[in-house]
Amino acid sequence: MRVELVSVGTELLLGDIVNTNTAYLSKELAALGLGVFRQTTVGDNRERLLKTLESAFLENDTVIITGGLGPTDDDITKECAAEYFGREFYFHEYSWVKILERLTRAGRNIITENNKKQAMIPEGAIVLENYCGTAPGIIIEENNKRIVLMPGPPREMRDMFEKSVKPYLEKFSNKQFISKYVRFYGIGESLLETKIKDIMDNQTNPTLALYAKTGEVLLRITASGDDKEECEDLIRKQLDEIENRVGEYIYLVGDEDISSTQTEMNTVVANLLIENKFTIAIAESLTGGKISSMLVEKSGISEAFLEGIVCYSNKSKINTLGVREETLAKFGAVSEEVAKEMALGAAKRLGADFAVATTGIAGPNSDETDKPVGLAYIGIYAQGDISVRECLFTGDRELIRYRTSVEALEEVRRNILKKL
Ligand code: ATP
Ligand code: MG
Repeated sequence: MRVELVSVGTELLLGDIVNTNTAYLSKELAALGLGVFRQTTVGDNRERLLKTLESAFLENDTVIITGGLGPTDDDITKECAAEYFGREFYFHEYSWVKILERLTRAGRNIITENNKKQAMIPEGAIVLENYCGTAPGIIIEENNKRIVLMPGPPREMRDMFEKSVKPYLEKFSNKQFISKYVRFYGIGESLLETKIKDIMDNQTNPTLALYAKTGEVLLRITASGDDKEECEDLIRKQLDEIENRVGEYIYLVGDEDISSTQTEMNTVVANLLIENKFTIAIAESLTGGKISSMLVEKSGISEAFLEGIVCYSNKSKINTLGVREETLAKFGAVSEEVAKEMALGAAKRLGADFAVATTGIAGPNSDETDKPVGLAYIGIYAQGDISVRECLFTGDRELIRYRTSVEALEEVRRNILKKL
C-alpha cells in the first residue's frame, strides 16, 4: 500500500492552525507498517482538490483525507471524492438518525436543511460512524484504489481512526493484528476512562479503544506483532494491568466483533448455568418475559431453564408464585418484600437452584403509590439464600425494561459465581 495523506483547509495554508492530523496519522500508519509517500495540504477549493486527487493517484493507491466534511457549502471534500470516482449520492438513514440524536443532545432544536448534507453518502461507499461528532467518515474503493475521508476536528478524526479506519487498514499490513474485546458492566464510560486514561494515552502497542453501549462499556485491545504469540502475549500483559484496576467490572473477555450493540450478559449467564449444571426459574412482572427471552436466545439452555413466568397481576403473583396477599397489601406490588417472595415462589415450584424475579415501574406513569418511574426490585434466590436489589433506572419504558433485564442477569451471574 502506498499512502498519500491530504489535509483540506485554507486555514492550514494560512498558518492559522498547525497540522496535527498529518503528524498523528503518519505515526499511526508507520506503526501499522504502511508507507506514507506524500503529505499534501490543499485549500477549500474544488478544482485544486480534484487536481490533488488526480496527482495523488498517479503515484499512490490510497488517499486519506481529513477536513471539509462539515455541513456548510465550503466543505467540499466528500463531493470531490465522489466526483473523482463518478459516484452519485444517496440519503443514508442510519447516519441521519445519529446526526439528529447528536444535535438534539447538544440542545439544538432547530435542525437546518444543510445538516442533511452530512447524511448524504456516495453510492457503494463504506460508512464510518462518528462517535464524537456529526459527520460520518467514508471509504470509497475502486480497482485497488481507495479514498478514506475523515472529519477535520482532531478529536473526531482520532476516535474514528482508532475505531474504524485502523481496523480497516490492518488488512493491508504485513504485520499480524489480534484484538480482544473486554465487556464491562456497572461502570460508566467516563469513570472507566479516568481509571485507565494513562494507559490509553501513552500506549502504542497494544492500543485501546472504548465504546459505550446501552448500560455497558466495551474496550477493544489490539496488539500487533510478527506472530500470533507475540500479539497474545502483549494483550495478556495489558489485560493483567486493566484487571488489577477495574477487574471487578469485567464480565467477559472475548474475540467477538464490536459491531453488535447487544449485551453478552445472557450468553455469560447461560454458559455459567449449563457448565455447572445449575437450573433456573424466572418470574417477571416488570420485564414481562424479556429475561426469559434473552436467555432462550442461547442454544443448550433447555438443560438449565426450568420455566419463565410472566406474573403481571397481583392475582398471578398470589396464585402462581405464592406471594402473600398481606405482603402485597402492606408493601405494594413494587417492593423489596414482593420481589423476594416472587423469587422464592419461582424457585420452589420446580426446585430450581437459582431464581430471579422482577417488579417495578416502567412508566411513563407511576402506579397509584408515589414510587418513582424506573424503580425496580430484583429478587434473587440462590440455593437457599434470598436477596434483593433495588435499582432506579432512567430512560423510557423500553429502556427501563431492558436495563432491568440485564441487571437481573448480572445479579444471577454474581450469585452463581459466589456459589462456585
Ligand atoms: P466541521 O464540521 O467542524 O466544519 P470539517 O470536517 O469540515 O468539520 P474542517 O472544517 O476542515 O473540518 O476543520 C474543522 C476544524 O478542525 C478546524 O478549524 C481545525 O480547528 C481543525 N482541523 C482541521 N484540519 C486539521 C488538521 N489537519 N490538523 C489540526 N486541526 C485540524
Ligand atoms: Mg468545515
